[in-house]
Amino acid sequence: MTTYEGSCHCGAVKISFEGEIDTAMVCNCSHCRRKGYMLTFMPADALKVESADGALSSYKFHKKVIDHTFCKTCGCATHGWGEMNGNKMAAVNLRCIPALDIDAIAIQKVDGASF
Ligand SMILES: [Zn+2]
Repeated sequence: MTTYEGSCHCGAVKISFEGEIDTAMVCNCSHCRRKGYMLTFMPADALKVESADGALSSYKFHKKVIDHTFCKTCGCATHGWGEMNGNKMAAVNLRCIPALDIDAIAIQKVDGASF
């Protein structure tokens, strides 16, 4: 198991989790394409988030069931929260993990634009 540590650009938000990352989901929907997300998913309790009080804001759209959190200071979207088959899930933006070689990760394309 590898411990992955990520953060927003200004450092107000820090995330960490354990696992092995070899693939990332890239989606072409109106939101993901704008933010350039490269995502991996895990149960919500597997993701640790450290942030100063009030550092995070959230963007919700469409059905408003996904919490797209981002740092209020630098705007980076490190992670989000949602639900999959009744389970609370976390989505992590792999672009916010500096030690990860994102060019070595297999991309799994999702056609979110057609959903
Ligand atoms: Zn920040």
